[in-house]
Amino acid sequence: MSETQKQIIDRAEAVLLHTYNRYQIVLDHGEGMYLYDVDGNKYLDFYAGIAVHALGHNYPGLNDAIKSQLDKLVHTSNYYYNVPAVETAEKLTKIAHMDRVFFTNSGTEAIEGAIKMARKYAYRRDGSTDHEMIAMNHSFHGRTMGALSVTGNPHYQEAFQPLIGGVKFAEFNNLESVKALVTDKTCAILLEPVQGEGGIYPAEESFLKGLRQLCDEKDILLIFDEIQCGMGRTGEMFAWQRFGVEPDIMTVAKALGCGLPIGAFLCKEKAAALEAGDHGSTYGGNPLVCAAASKILDIFRQDHILDHVKEAGAYLYDQLEQLKNRHQDKIVDHRGVGLIQGLEFTGPVGPIIQRAMNKGLILISAEANTIRFLPPLIVEKTHIDEMIRILEQSI
Ligand SMILES: *Cc1c(COP(=O)(O)O)cnc(C)c1O
Repeated sequence: MSETQKQIIDRAEAVLLHTYNRYQIVLDHGEGMYLYDVDGNKYLDFYAGIAVHALGHNYPGLNDAIKSQLDKLVHTSNYYYNVPAVETAEKLTKIAHMDRVFFTNSGTEAIEGAIKMARKYAYRRDGSTDHEMIAMNHSFHGRTMGALSVTGNPHYQEAFQPLIGGVKFAEFNNLESVKALVTDKTCAILLEPVQGEGGIYPAEESFLKGLRQLCDEKDILLIFDEIQCGMGRTGEMFAWQRFGVEPDIMTVAKALGCGLPIGAFLCKEKAAALEAGDHGSTYGGNPLVCAAASKILDIFRQDHILDHVKEAGAYLYDQLEQLKNRHQDKIVDHRGVGLIQGLEFTGPVGPIIQRAMNKGLILISAEANTIRFLPPLIVEKTHIDEMIRILEQSI
């Protein structure tokens, strides 16, 4: 590390709240699949800013679309209409098979909105105010109080009690464990179709189908959190589209703005219970972030991003499978689909990730023992080969 890089890190540690244990590099710019630090060191990007940079860095046309909106109008508030928001809403509802959308600035806010909508829906159904939600163990839905309350990880929750009440946790991929928690008060069942932070666990088709049937029978809303696994990562635009099991409400963020802060919750007409005065956001859906999202959705279609993910994802799967077979003493499991995959090791992966970083590869973990592979969706086979080579040297 250069003196300047060390100085910047020292300055950061003097003023930033210490909520992260950061890797000791200062990133400066990106190009395609690569990131560069302030000393000019090059890193192959296999984390994409935590599943955000779906199109890598500096994708042709995207920055121009953002810049032209930047010079026109950045913000309006939601007292007025703006064209980029309308366009993004039209495109997003169409590809998600949803009827309505509310724009937020982040993933956790999308979850807050989904929770409020489920409660309001149930309130309209029976007039009572003691509704319950069912979420999953090992889930992750965000850090604000509502999203934290449905995050099935006691470690994140402990110090912040009391959280919102009426939340129960079931076992992921275990339909009976969900059924056992349903009561007359249940208003929603919430889950990630592929659990991300919890270690890359894809939902089974029978589980999602069973949940859909259960929700239909009991008039419960099914909420899918697509914030990490959505936007093409599984090879479908949204992970539930692999199985055709439609939610009533879904959340999206991360790759929706490829780095500009935008999230959303979407719903079917029947679930659209929030009315004027029920919810709001000053920034949410401003023209700048929507100009980015609108362009990103166009690029996905025009440049056949999903076809590419299917092909690159299959190749990544084969390569990781072979790596696992070569290191059976250290690698215990390989999970995932498309470009959201994980390798579980016998012990903590932190040292492996650090060694890979020293050799010019950026990876991230999911839980202590799993390496998560979330490259930009534009990743090519040569990048996957390069990643495997560095990772194998780092194991
Ligand atoms: C990242 C994430 C969130 C929270 O999103 P933020 O933008 O960090 O608030 C919620 N759900 C899932 C599945 C996520 O991966």
